[in-house]
This record gives sequence, C-alpha cells and structure tokens, in this order.
Amino acid sequence: MIDLHLHLDGSLSIGLIESLAKQQHITLPEPLLPSIQASPRCQDLNEYLRCFDLPLLLLQTPEALRQAVSDLIRRLDAAGLWYAEIRFAPQLHTQKHYRQEEILQGALAGLAGAPFPVQLILCCMRGDQNEAANQETLRLAADYLGKGVCALDLAGAEGIFPTCQYADLFAAAREAGVPFTIHAGEAAGPESIREAIRFGASRIGHGVRLREDPALLDEILAREIPLEMCPTSNLQTRAVSSLADYPLRDYLQKGLCVTVNTDNMTVSQTSLAQEYQLLSLTPCEIHQLLSHSIRAAFLPEAVKSTLQSRLKNPLEK
Ligand SMILES: [Zn+2]
Repeated sequence: MIDLHLHLDGSLSIGLIESLAKQQHITLPEPLLPSIQASPRCQDLNEYLRCFDLPLLLLQTPEALRQAVSDLIRRLDAAGLWYAEIRFAPQLHTQKHYRQEEILQGALAGLAGAPFPVQLILCCMRGDQNEAANQETLRLAADYLGKGVCALDLAGAEGIFPTCQYADLFAAAREAGVPFTIHAGEAAGPESIREAIRFGASRIGHGVRLREDPALLDEILAREIPLEMCPTSNLQTRAVSSLADYPLRDYLQKGLCVTVNTDNMTVSQTSLAQEYQLLSLTPCEIHQLLSHSIRAAFLPEAVKSTLQSRLKNPLEK
C-alpha cells in the first residue's frame, strides 16, 4: 500500500501526543479527542483545520519533529505500507524561533532507519504576509531535493486564499527544478485546479471538484495528471455531500490517474485500509489505484519498478 498525501501534524498517535506534552510540560485538554479529531458535525475545511492547533503546539522543536516522523513511520510499517510521502509545513513549526531548516533537519533525522522508502513533501502555506516564509520553504525543498525531500506543496485555507495568488512562488519552483503538488479543488472549485496545472503542478491534492468542469477533466486525463484523493477527509470538509456522491469510481472509470490516500490519520480517524473499505473497492480497483500511486510517486524510475513488482499481491506487506 502507498500513501502519497499524508500530513504529519494531522497524523500523530495519541501516545506520542501524550509523550510530547509530558516532555514539554504542556497540560493537555480533557477530554483530548475533540481537540484533535474532526467532529461528525464538522462544517468545512476551516473548521477541520482547527484540529491542527494542538498538534502544532507540540511540534515546535527539531526533536519533536524527529520523534513524530519516526513514530509515524513505525505505525505505517505496521500497517503494511510499501512507500509513503509525508508532508508538513516547516514555517508552522518556528514559534520557538527555530529556523525552518533546523525543523526540517529534525524531520529528516526521523527518516533515518525507515524500514521502507519514505520521503518528505514540504508545504508552503496559503496565508497573509508569509511570502518570505514560503520562499524559504522553496529554498529548502531545492537544497534538500533527493536528500529526503521529494517535492513542494501548497496547503491551507483554499477558500480564503485562492491559488492564483501563488503564481510567482510556483514560477520560482519551476525555475529551481522542484516538482510540486497543490491542494486544489477541495474548498474551491475547478478554477483552482486549472490554476495549479497552469503553474505546472505534477499532481493535484484532492481535485474532488474537477467534475464540475468537463473540459478541464479531459485536459487532466490527456495530460495524465494524478489526483491525490482522500475520501474520509473530503467528506469531513464537505468537499462532497455524501459517500454516494464521491467521484472516485467515476474518475477511475473515466481513466483518470486517481490515487487513494489518508490526508490525516488522526484528525480523520482513518488508515489506508479503512479508506479502501469505505469505498468498497474490489481487488481489481485496488490494483489499479496502487498502480496509479506508483506512477504518481515522486520517485526515480528504478524504485518505481521495484514497487511495481509488489503489485502482484497488493494487500501483502
Ligand atoms: Zn492535505
């Protein structure tokens, strides 16, 4: 199994949260779960994003990042993953005045000894007055590309800060040769996806609302641009109204390169196996989705071939 869209801060285990709080003398709220898990009554992406406040409070040192990455990899290995791309935004971890690079080095230290291939995607953030921070994230992605970092992303409140505002950032990413994926078509409509591919995005994060623009869908199909879909999360943020209305199977049948991912294992209380179950995927569909994930991975072709050979028994570790 492969997870290409997995946020570190949204995927901390309860055990690690308690341990980090103890190490840092932080008192956790009681009960804890409502602060870190999306409520069934979650109204939108903005409300969903509030579940990241507490995890972020605990992840403000390189050592905390090291522990978080290492703990997540251990759990992914136990769940039988073959490959994962873990993403986080270094600029959200500088409240204690560590530099983004020190925070990244902490996360990279957490990759050491991983029992299966894992890489990091660095997220730039939608927001006000963080242009310099985004530029610094891009610089780090360029400097550490192929050394644990595989790509850049744009995350945050898509409905408030539209994708079109980030043209310069991604022009610079293209110039620097850093591949990127962009969260688009989740809280905003297909125009956001159109902007992302105009910038040169290699993949689209979510892309749920692509079906609203058939011409754009045909373009994404023709250009074989992968979509990183995250069913439970997409339901919680109201990107779709119901599971019956979820477009994954439709996209798959149209031939789009769709992939299934978790987004946030803790905030969405899910796992990759649970996402497969939720969609009642057949072994044939799982095979197809995994094949797409390998194609979409930010990996050298040689490593992709190794992963392809595992497709014969997709649910085996
Ligand atoms: Zn995401």
